[in-house]
Amino acid sequence: MRTITLINGDGIGPEISNAVIQIASAANVNINWEIQTAGSEVVEKEGTPLPSRVIDSVKKNKIALKAPVTTPIGKGFRSVNVQLRKELNLYANLRPCKNFEGIKTPFSNVDIVVVRENTEDLYAGIERMADENTAESIKIITREASEKIADFAFKYAVNNKRKTVWAVTKANICKFSDGLFLDCCRLIAQNYTNIEYKEILVDNLCMQLVQNPEKFDVLVLPNLYGDIVSDLTAGLTGGLGLARGANIGDNYAVFEPVHGSAPDIAGKNKANPSALLLSFIEMLKYIGDYSSAEKIENALLKTLREGKILTCDLGGNASTSDFTEEIIKNLKH
Ligand code: ATP
Repeated sequence: MRTITLINGDGIGPEISNAVIQIASAANVNINWEIQTAGSEVVEKEGTPLPSRVIDSVKKNKIALKAPVTTPIGKGFRSVNVQLRKELNLYANLRPCKNFEGIKTPFSNVDIVVVRENTEDLYAGIERMADENTAESIKIITREASEKIADFAFKYAVNNKRKTVWAVTKANICKFSDGLFLDCCRLIAQNYTNIEYKEILVDNLCMQLVQNPEKFDVLVLPNLYGDIVSDLTAGLTGGLGLARGANIGDNYAVFEPVHGSAPDIAGKNKANPSALLLSFIEMLKYIGDYSSAEKIENALLKTLREGKILTCDLGGNASTSDFTEEIIKNLKH
């Protein structure tokens, strides 16, 4: 039996984690969960939102499933998500977005994979008040991290039979930082002559994504643009409740939904557990348990396709527990 770290998060985290635990157990997945808490409640007890026991657990088990942890806005502790990605050098953030049968959206043929650099850019949080009225934030882009993420994107394209990799920047304005990122993408593209390579500015991309998203394939972006664009692509394919994600490094991988801790609906039994469940399905594929992955994915897709029991974000009025029960029921058919 494989042991997997489960960081059950805060906000809606514990509710959606419970849903995934129940579904995994009903599907007889051969997993032993090592549950680790992190976030705002942990700060009060342990003085840090990300105690070393959490990092140690992921290092030991190599793989983790992570529910969202709240990042205080404007003040308070540094993002646990960002810290975890840095500590474990999870340099690639993979966020695939594809339409789901039964989920009505303005476009029906969207199939985009966002590959976001995960360790630097403005996300490094190197900020200071230069004086009382002037804030400074430093954007770090390195050749090493940019070449690594570009190579990851092209490898992903080859392994997953994709046609095109688009490098997304604002290199006309950020000439040094995004310019370096672009140079690295161009260099790496030369090693992958079977994959088409294209470039687009991030503002133009955003406009085209809401007008003609079907033309895009794999996107590779610096950290901050990747964060923003992946919420947009999530919106194109059914919203945050359905958007899966993975943080991957050379030694460890942490699977987590695109969405945050949704404090507005926390504790109300309203959250959609699908994004965490889809991240779990990706995790099962990553560890080679394809039969469990397929079984659970089929049950989820059937639930979405039938549309009888859906959570509020998908236009239904079912609770998290009703939706979870329906998926469990569909595991048996
Ligand atoms: P972060 O910056 O931490 O990613 P965010 O500001 O993007 O967080 P979220 O917590 O992702 O915000 O929530 C954005 C909106 O989407 C909220 O209204 C929230 O209720 C809704 N939402 C997010 N996740 C879910 C979910 N799993 N089920 C239903 N609604 C969700």
